[in-house]
Amino acid sequence: MEYVIQLTIDHQCPQCGAPSTLEETDRLFTCEFCRVRSFLQERGHFRYLLPSKAPEGKELVYVPYWRFKGMLFTCLEKEIRHRFVDVSQRAMDGNLFPPSVGLRSQALKLKFVTPKSQGTFLKPTLPLEEVLDIIDRRFRDQRSGPIIHRAHIGDSLSIIYSPFYIDKKLYDAVLDKPISPELPDDFTFSDFPEWRQQKGLNFLPTLCPHCGWDLDGQRDSLILNCKNCDSVWRPLKDRFSKLNAAHMPEKGDDVIYLPFWRIKGDISGLSLHSYADLVRLANLPKAVQEKMEKTRFHFWSLAFKVRPQNLLQLSRGVTLAQPGENLVPGVPKARLHPVTLPLKEGIESLKLTLVDLIRPKSRLPELVPDIRIEPKSFLLVYLPFHEKHHDLVQPHFNMSINRNMLAHARNI
Ligand SMILES: [Zn+2]
Ligand SMILES: [Zn+2]
Repeated sequence: MEYVIQLTIDHQCPQCGAPSTLEETDRLFTCEFCRVRSFLQERGHFRYLLPSKAPEGKELVYVPYWRFKGMLFTCLEKEIRHRFVDVSQRAMDGNLFPPSVGLRSQALKLKFVTPKSQGTFLKPTLPLEEVLDIIDRRFRDQRSGPIIHRAHIGDSLSIIYSPFYIDKKLYDAVLDKPISPELPDDFTFSDFPEWRQQKGLNFLPTLCPHCGWDLDGQRDSLILNCKNCDSVWRPLKDRFSKLNAAHMPEKGDDVIYLPFWRIKGDISGLSLHSYADLVRLANLPKAVQEKMEKTRFHFWSLAFKVRPQNLLQLSRGVTLAQPGENLVPGVPKARLHPVTLPLKEGIESLKLTLVDLIRPKSRLPELVPDIRIEPKSFLLVYLPFHEKHHDLVQPHFNMSINRNMLAHARNI
């Protein structure tokens, strides 16, 4: 099992001020004291502070670190490798400071950065793309040959601010220990551009914008449901915006619905418009019939977290199945698994799924570099699974998901 670090965050109820502890994956926050519920929405990225042990009166300077937690997929000429990564990387130049926050963040309670946070904050100047390149290089195996495609999938990209101060030497304020030799008297941080948090986290009231009912979700849900008017809502620019949803009806007391993103996209570099094209591309042992030529191809991505090895297998399964014949609009009135992977990550996985489907594999080096996918429209689709002893089973598509894996993966 991959090693998963889960941060904990000290938080105050925005309504009554009561203290609470959040998990990093929490989005729907219910105050234990005043019972008010709110949805935590980041502005760009979640930004956290590490606590300081500096003596009273020291002026703290906070250095930004990008933190990426998620899955890294590397497509080689003959195979796709995956790994789980949880890394941090200094988000600015300045060799004086440690290159990463190391393992400290897992043991300490963080706080959200707010406009009231004290201290000087330095500006993250290293773009995200460069950080991902650095991460890739760190995990690159030189013997594995050329990389034809790469995907980073995970909903967790945040900034952790680590405090430092000067007292003749540079001190790491988390440990309250010096980390440099004596500095020149005129040393200042003013060479580094400063950054100021303008607004804090956004707390969206969890009322259905359509009917005013309380929206429903689990603490790690990225999307909330209204059980009164059967609508689905996702946070978008300071408010909840309605999502189009559909489901495949299924009878049975043991049915639980899992969320998927069905994505329509323009694909260049490859002819993939119909189900028949998919059969040819994946070299499926099926005779192509007239009807298949007319059935439009859709991408399918998971809208819930799983372990990296399961992500490929499940995306392949549902994309090959191309569910579509008996979809009906709306959310099913049944048990729902929460949406924990955002649409953005569904889109990031499209090319990966395609690379995984192409047969024979010898065509990959020639085909993959030219493939471009431009997403055009999407639909949130709930597909039914039957809850068995160990697995959730989808008999029509011959898919099954281990229940334990699904429970553990929610922390990824
Ligand atoms: Zn409260
Ligand atoms: Zn409603």
